[in-house]
Amino acid sequence: MGRSAAGSGVKPAHYVGGEFVREGGVGSFPLVDPVDGSVRGDVPEADRAIVDAAVGAARGALGVWGSSSVEERAAAMRRIADGIEARFEEFVDAEVADTGKPRELAATVDIPRAVGNFRAYADLLYGRPERSYSTAVPGWSGGSGQALNYTTRRPLGVVAIISPWNLPLLLLTWKVAPALAAGNTVVAKPSEETPSTATLLAEVIHEAGLPVGAFNLIHGHGAGAAGEFLTAHEGVDAIAFTGESATGSAIMRKAAEHITPVSFELGGKNPAIVFADADFEDAVAGTVRSAFTHSGQICLCTERVYVERSIFDAFVAELGVRARALTGYGPMISAAHRDKVVSYYRLAVDEGATVVAGGGVPSFGDERDGGFHVEPTVLTGLAQNARTVQEEVFGPICHVMPFDTEDEAIALANDSRYGLAATVWTTDLSRAHRVAPRVEAGIVWVNCWNLRDLRTPFGGIKASGIGREGGEYSLDFFSEPVNICIKI
Ligand code: NAD
Repeated sequence: MGRSAAGSGVKPAHYVGGEFVREGGVGSFPLVDPVDGSVRGDVPEADRAIVDAAVGAARGALGVWGSSSVEERAAAMRRIADGIEARFEEFVDAEVADTGKPRELAATVDIPRAVGNFRAYADLLYGRPERSYSTAVPGWSGGSGQALNYTTRRPLGVVAIISPWNLPLLLLTWKVAPALAAGNTVVAKPSEETPSTATLLAEVIHEAGLPVGAFNLIHGHGAGAAGEFLTAHEGVDAIAFTGESATGSAIMRKAAEHITPVSFELGGKNPAIVFADADFEDAVAGTVRSAFTHSGQICLCTERVYVERSIFDAFVAELGVRARALTGYGPMISAAHRDKVVSYYRLAVDEGATVVAGGGVPSFGDERDGGFHVEPTVLTGLAQNARTVQEEVFGPICHVMPFDTEDEAIALANDSRYGLAATVWTTDLSRAHRVAPRVEAGIVWVNCWNLRDLRTPFGGIKASGIGREGGEYSLDFFSEPVNICIKI
């Protein structure tokens, strides 16, 4: 299974005002190993008082951190990146222990990307232009005049960052790095399922010597608990959230009261369109990767595959063979999530699906049978309006449907409340350029999946999100322009 025998010895703790705290709050809850269902430890649950203290500490640090120089902030980002790298194996162990994901994934994607997030923003800070406009301008009541306008950016203030369990450190640092780089102070809450690497990050940030209170970490649940206390807090100036669309709606309702700006990375039901002129091997192998990496628990994973009719049967047969051949895959994050995914397997059959591969719970004959694995599953035969084709499952499931024309493929891909990512497989260059911009998604990959350049805009349209993150886009969200006009 590629797991560390030692697992992870991290004891999750809140980090508030420069202190690690495990006491107080409203007790603790068990941390469950998704691979075998055993209890590995416990996680402290923050109450309102701890959230208040964290927001207060962040507010208190704003003056110092918000006015620090670009050099100071960039150097701090680099120290954090170095600190994660220095404890690389510990971070990998912790991520593997919390998520059950294959070690290779954590070691090649999750933790290196977390390091990369801090390095990228250290570098990007130096490339931020400030603008000026000098011209004769018409005045309103006092005649026209000559004026110099300059536009500078300032941090938003105290930022609440809420992240999910699927790529715990990667997605947390994807927001923490630009938020801190832009001079904000942060109160972060990782998913209750995956508290360990966030705790290690707090240790690294502590060692990196940021001003006390610049970064704070609280643990706990979301609705009616720490997550809600934080995002509804009047002392929070902005919210950056990654998670389910329904959670985004709940957070937005609370944020509306204080008109708190939000950046949302939400759910998806991502389509792949496979044209008959595609490189067959690339398209099949790419679809296996995009549907089943991390057992489908990546927001960018493909759950809907539309294949041109002339290659439909061959494509489905090959996809089925490869899905059945997958081994070494990790579990769903929790029993509840396993049950949700399995309920969709059953629903699909009730809706009339043909099960080409998987569709159940595997039996390994070892301790993994106590864990939360489900089989990689390929389905066909459902109508476009079936719930299994419309609702996000967030597991290793894809439904394959034939199409006849380019327009039909685009219409089917766009027939979704979501619009996060899409994949187009074709060797016809003109077709690629014709189709990609018409697909309603924030990110469209052609002949690849999940190739990421950290400078590019990342995010979804429709129910998949609000705003874009990545490179300059994150720094734009985490700061606001102020225009100053001087009559000369
Ligand atoms: P989730 O929405 O259940 O939880 C995410 C976080 O929000 C957790 O930390 C949780 O404690 C917190 N939370 C829950 N309810 C809250 C509330 N009412 N107020 C404040 N905080 C609350 O999501 P999840 O199950 O952890 O993650 C899976 C989901 O995340 C999927 O829908 C997936 O598509 C999405 N996702 C999106 C992206 C993206 O970039 N678009 C990336 C990864 C995951």
